[in-house]
Amino acid sequence: MGFTHETLPQRVRFAAGEADSAVREEVELLGARRAMVIASPRGAGVARAVTAGIGVAVLHDGVREHVPIEVAEAARAVAAEHDVDVVVPVGGGSATGLAKAVALTTGLPVVAVPTTYAGSEATDVWGLTTDGTKTTGTDRRVLPRAVVYDASLTLDLPAALTATSGLNALAHAVDALWAPRADPINAALAGEGARALAAALPAVLDAPRDVAVRERVLYGTYLASTAFASAGSGLHHKICHVLGGRFDLPHAATHAVVLPHVLALNAPHAPDADRRLAEAFGSTSAAAGLADLHDRLDVPRGLAELGLRDEQVAEAAEAILPSVPPSNPAPVDLEVLEALLRAALRG
Ligand code: NAD
Repeated sequence: MGFTHETLPQRVRFAAGEADSAVREEVELLGARRAMVIASPRGAGVARAVTAGIGVAVLHDGVREHVPIEVAEAARAVAAEHDVDVVVPVGGGSATGLAKAVALTTGLPVVAVPTTYAGSEATDVWGLTTDGTKTTGTDRRVLPRAVVYDASLTLDLPAALTATSGLNALAHAVDALWAPRADPINAALAGEGARALAAALPAVLDAPRDVAVRERVLYGTYLASTAFASAGSGLHHKICHVLGGRFDLPHAATHAVVLPHVLALNAPHAPDADRRLAEAFGSTSAAAGLADLHDRLDVPRGLAELGLRDEQVAEAAEAILPSVPPSNPAPVDLEVLEALLRAALRG
């Protein structure tokens, strides 16, 4: 076993029903007194309740998906104007992403309170969109210092978003298994994350207001994102990145639709990953287990349903090709990418 694994430094708290006290303690640990709370207008009420015990200098609700640069700059100006010393996003990956954009240029610490299964809180990956082109990078400054998971904040997540966001979480685990820095430690995290998600996601759709089941999804989400942060972006994320950034397809649903197609391509060339995922899904193969999960979750089937058009497939394949990781187990060329996208288009 020759490998070097780096673990990202972060405090993580599971505190169902107690986000307010957990946030207060985490902010106190940082010695911060003037928080910038970031939430969408929909999440502002929840954010106020969660941050009631800390000094809030400003609540900023200018959240947009994929963090357009002008949205990031507006948030940075608000942070400077209010002389804040900590950023507290309460919401999905878009709120966390905006907090990361502020941290990227200011170095301010982030205490994240996630309310979806996007998993951004566990990574040091930032993303910004300029003139329709999304750029991502890694920087330790954007890794939240602390994450507070309170499953009670996720009880109202609609069924469709629960399913697609949950599969977005699962995609982190699956893609980590053949990503550039895959190693035995992040593979173990990915396997356990996949196991938790595969068991809890169907259960959460049956009992959407069961805090304990929602908490199992958050547990799987965290493990999967930690594996992804450590292993890096694999082929699946490179594909979804282009589809989201260039064609404006919805983030979570795109991950849900593309994942079985990347798995079908790679699993025959990655027997260890196939075996680990099959075990996690309690199935004969990774592909069969994921197909079964898809059926039970009732997620969109094809990219066409999400807005991709047939004539955009060739353009997408060309845009994806330069970023295909050399670590990918199956050989990939333009033809392979086009075939994968056409299969995903139809679903
Ligand atoms: P999102 O944050 O845009 O949320 C989707 C919708 O759900 C929004 O309308 C939001 O208001 C609503 N919502 C959030 N929490 C809710 C709740 N508990 N109940 C009801 N409604 C709720 O979407 P997302 O899928 O969470 O995040 C997507 C964004 O995150 C993308 O921009 C993506 O690129 C980014 N992301 C980044 C990373 C990373 O590592 N940097 C990882 C994953 C996702």
